[in-house]
Amino acid sequence: QPRRAQGLLDGLDPDQRAAAERVAGPLLIVAGPGTGKTRTLTHRIAHLVAERGVAPQGCLAITFTRRAADELRERLTGLLPDEAARMTVTTFHGLGSLILREQAGRAGLTRDFGIADEAQRLVIAAELCGSEAQGRKLLAQRDRGAGTAPDSDTGTDTGTGTGTGTDDSAAEADYERRLRERNLADFTDLLRLPVRLLDADPDLAAAYRDRWPWVSVDEYQDIDGTQYALLRLLTTADGNLTAIGDPDQAIYGFRGADVGFFLRFAQDFPAARSVRLTRNYRSNATIVAAAVQAIAPTSLVPGRALRAVGDFSDPPRIGLHVAADERAEASFVARAIDRLLGGTSLHSLDSGRVTDDGHDGLGFGDVSVLYRTDAQSAALMSAFDNAGIPFQKRSHDRLLARPGVRALAAELAHQSQGPLTERVRAAVAALCERAGTDTETVTDLRTAGELVAPLAARAGDDLSGFLAELSLGAEVDALDPRADRVALLTLHAAKGLEYPVVFLVGCEDGMLPFRFPGAERDDEAEERRLFFVGLTRAQQRLYLSRARERTRYKTVREAAASPFLAAIGPELTMPVDEESATRKRPSDRQLRLI
Ligand code: ATP
Ligand code: MG
Repeated sequence: QPRRAQGLLDGLDPDQRAAAERVAGPLLIVAGPGTGKTRTLTHRIAHLVAERGVAPQGCLAITFTRRAADELRERLTGLLPDEAARMTVTTFHGLGSLILREQAGRAGLTRDFGIADEAQRLVIAAELCGSEAQGRKLLAQRDRGAGTAPDSDTGTDTGTGTGTGTDDSAAEADYERRLRERNLADFTDLLRLPVRLLDADPDLAAAYRDRWPWVSVDEYQDIDGTQYALLRLLTTADGNLTAIGDPDQAIYGFRGADVGFFLRFAQDFPAARSVRLTRNYRSNATIVAAAVQAIAPTSLVPGRALRAVGDFSDPPRIGLHVAADERAEASFVARAIDRLLGGTSLHSLDSGRVTDDGHDGLGFGDVSVLYRTDAQSAALMSAFDNAGIPFQKRSHDRLLARPGVRALAAELAHQSQGPLTERVRAAVAALCERAGTDTETVTDLRTAGELVAPLAARAGDDLSGFLAELSLGAEVDALDPRADRVALLTLHAAKGLEYPVVFLVGCEDGMLPFRFPGAERDDEAEERRLFFVGLTRAQQRLYLSRARERTRYKTVREAAASPFLAAIGPELTMPVDEESATRKRPSDRQLRLI
């Protein structure tokens, strides 16, 4: 067999290979960005299945975002085209949804229960509390508690509040009852209900453990209490659990994730073996050095070793740009991209890759622009439009929050004939026809129909499964990794990804670290980790920019440089001004200086 002869571990270095060859028992892979953690995870699973006789349907791989799950699945499919389809590769919410659908009856739901969107949740909460404002409060309280682990030792369920006897918890229990009456679960339920069901029925938990004896979790540093509780129910202390992560990339503390679970893995799983990876294959030496300096003041990994081993000769310095305001910053980014790609975009709308004139063969799809808050994307998009630079944006909207997608979901309910993909297409066409000349609605619908078709294909002909897929696309993951467009991403959305060229904009005190105007300085460690995540997405070229003045909440405000910039040594950076960025067709050597 050629696959065996070639060997699935050949593409790994000795440390990665040691991790992948650890067949049974708990395993922790602790390593910095770009060290091949995700690569090791996928090769390890493929090795187990193809070379160690593990059944693919016994493999469960979990991550946090839809995009990351898709990427895991793609990489596994690349390694094992036939077997990958039989593995369960999903997000934590997807896993919860799968278990809940199978056990719906026990939770007061039917198999085709719906997932409540924000609007539905608010209607129910407002009705219960007597006003929309009170309803919002209830939902905010529920969302805050979503990551809090139900305490299974004492049998009390502190997470949901049932049984604690306070008014708040009674209201929340009422809210849950009303959801059930409508055959709905919300996002919080998707994790909490499976935890409750498995916790209450040890045989059921054991059945799921038998089903998936091989569990892997990527980005383990971002796990919250409820997800951890679910994972503990699905594994035993000496089970085959592989956890992978980097404490210095923990960026979801604000919504209940707790890096403490990562740090105490060895206590939770005493049989665990721990592997460290130190070679960074992603970024050039300058970028790695800057990232290590940037995280050092509050690193959670003492004595972190991270060295660049990629094949990058003569790496350019990191470009620093100071702009007058956010519009000037955006136009700097647009011009710099234009120069990097050989100056095609300002002259034509052709988005073809520029490979013929020595500019490293970079295309638009090799570039990403990262920012702290979604609001920063507006200035960038308009600058890109003006410059004719094609882009795609990833936002955090719920897919179902888009009017086009909502209309589509409603319309679909009436289309019972034909396979689902066909019905989606028919529904989009019908809606577009009805929208008539309202171009904005038509555009929104068409985008929705693109977004939606692959989900429909994946869901087969199961309408409820399809709608669940829709709501689980918590981020509008319209980002096509193969499209030749510049990617606009929040720092949170960029985790796990890599791009040859990265612009990190808004490096200002108050934006990164983020603070509401006028607010006190807060714990900045998580913001610094976010900065670290941003720097380490870059493979070859990195630019950091800031504006002296920025309009925030409709007010123009002065902004000082981000304190995080000060940690990066001057020997690694170089100022880049508008002039050098707009210099016509620089030579390759000049380009390196930009
Ligand atoms: P992050 O912390 O950002 O998620 P990671 O540790 O998961 O990073 P990967 O995305 O798995 O890193 O790998 C980073 C890059 O390095 C990828 O392009 C990957 O293919 C490459 N890489 C990893 N290991 C090797 C190796 N042994 N040989 C060649 N390339 C490698
Ligand atoms: Mg990774």
